[in-house]
Amino acid sequence: MNNYRMGTKCVQAGYKPGNGEPRQIPIIQSTTFKYDTSEDMGKLFDLEAEGYFYSRLQNPTCDHVAAKIAAMEGGTAAMLTSSGQAANFMALFNICECGDHIVASSSIYGGTFNLISVTMAKMGITATFVSPDATEEELNAAFKPNTKVMFGETIANPALTVLDIELFAKVAHEHGVPLVVDNTFPTPVNCRPIEWGADIVTHSTTKYMDGHGAALGGAIIDGGHFDWMAHKDRYPGLCTPDESYHGITYAEKFGKEGAFITKCTAQLMRDFGSMQSPNSAFILNLGLESLHVRMPKHVENGQAVAEFLESHPKVAYVNYPGLPSNKYYDRAKKYLPNGGCGVVSFGLKGGREAASTFMQNLKLGAIETHVADARTCCLNPATSTHRQMTDEQLIEAGVPAELIRISLGLEDKEDLIADISNALDAIK
Ligand SMILES: *Cc1c(COP(=O)(O)O)cnc(C)c1O
Repeated sequence: MNNYRMGTKCVQAGYKPGNGEPRQIPIIQSTTFKYDTSEDMGKLFDLEAEGYFYSRLQNPTCDHVAAKIAAMEGGTAAMLTSSGQAANFMALFNICECGDHIVASSSIYGGTFNLISVTMAKMGITATFVSPDATEEELNAAFKPNTKVMFGETIANPALTVLDIELFAKVAHEHGVPLVVDNTFPTPVNCRPIEWGADIVTHSTTKYMDGHGAALGGAIIDGGHFDWMAHKDRYPGLCTPDESYHGITYAEKFGKEGAFITKCTAQLMRDFGSMQSPNSAFILNLGLESLHVRMPKHVENGQAVAEFLESHPKVAYVNYPGLPSNKYYDRAKKYLPNGGCGVVSFGLKGGREAASTFMQNLKLGAIETHVADARTCCLNPATSTHRQMTDEQLIEAGVPAELIRISLGLEDKEDLIADISNALDAIK
């Protein structure tokens, strides 16, 4: 499947029915799987044979969909998780343990910022946050002897900064650590971070991949390039025997291509159980089948609305990497030549109050804690998703208090612009 183009992978990768088998990926709605002998099942537990025994760790429906996403991202292995949060947590915790350190872009999703800065800190894993615009020198300075991983978002939610993936990957690799990139906003249709040097890619599939606001989910994809054994001392979790799993050494037994996802499944999914349900995976797959058709429309609507807002007298500023005035325009041209996504953020001259009037008066755009859906929606992060942050942290994360994030859906752009124009007129 890897020789096909993106659209073909979106539709057909990950599942090939045999003679007389269902054309669509079947929903295997079963918690367990039956075996004739204990020995047969024992081989699965020892990771000696491939197969399924319990859907908390692996399920065939989920695996078909994960295999499709792996093909789309150009990775060697992938797994689904119950949410994007679970994907980011497990991708990082599969590398780090108590006493370790993460270098992360400060411009990331609020939930991920919280996860890294508060919750993982409680587990003894510390972090240094760097600007997505940091120079190579500044990035180098953030590394410590116990740094195990670097993290960033291709297009940050909601700041819409664009990550210099090549630079982050170069610095990470010079320090002998992998780069994990959350690629939720562009999806592999618009950017494939592994091609630019990222080692591991994560997704909140809740967003464009599902695309219909129907199923919560996440995914982790391994590019299969990072050589864990070359940094054996730094990654004991991957490079020394796992006593909780019959003494298996993942990097030895499954190599660069398979070690990461195998460990993450056998150890972390076993212990945390953050599996995506097969029903959700089925819904996710329906979304993936049209992702290559939907993304260009989201980009078209995003671009049209961004241009309209930029020309409007009540608008103070617009953030959209597709605008020539945007700080990230050149970087976006490089990493996102077909456009990034349908999310636009902007500030109104009237501040918080104008933001509230504007949002109330939209008829097509609904106020939601959501983005990347077929239906247009909007949000003021400072009073919702990012409310745990101080004003300084909000500015640092690129989401000042007056910022509105609007996610353009798949409606006709003329209707969206008319709706936005009316809501702007309602501001006194
Ligand atoms: C939404 C989002 C997440 C979290 O995903 P959930 O599916 O809501 O858990 C992580 N990263 C990014 C970039 C997101 O937009």
